[in-house]
Amino acid sequence: MYVKKIIAINIAPTPKLKRVKGFKLTPSGIEFISRIFSRFNNLIEAAFKSEIKICASCGLKLYKDYHTETIHEKEMNFCCIHCAKVYKESYNKN
Ligand SMILES: [Zn+2]
Repeated sequence: MYVKKIIAINIAPTPKLKRVKGFKLTPSGIEFISRIFSRFNNLIEAAFKSEIKICASCGLKLYKDYHTETIHEKEMNFCCIHCAKVYKESYNKN
C-alpha cells in the first residue's frame, strides 16, 4: 500500500514515445555516487586488511588459505610449505 502510494505520487505516466527516454546522473548525482562508492571501498578495504596475513618468508599477502607453523614457540604464516621450509633453513643458518 505504502509503496503504491509513493509510486502514484512520484511517478507520472509518460506519453508513448517512439524512443524510450533513459535517465542520467546530474553533476551533483555523479559526485554523490562517487562519495558513496568511496565509502564502500574504504569499508571493504578495512574489513580485508584485518583478515590479511603476510608470508614470513616471501612477504606475499595471504587471505584465508595459508600454511601456519609454530617455529620457536611463535606461530607464523606462510603462503606454502616450501616457503616455510626456506624460512626454517635460513633461520637455522643464522
Ligand atoms: Zn611465501
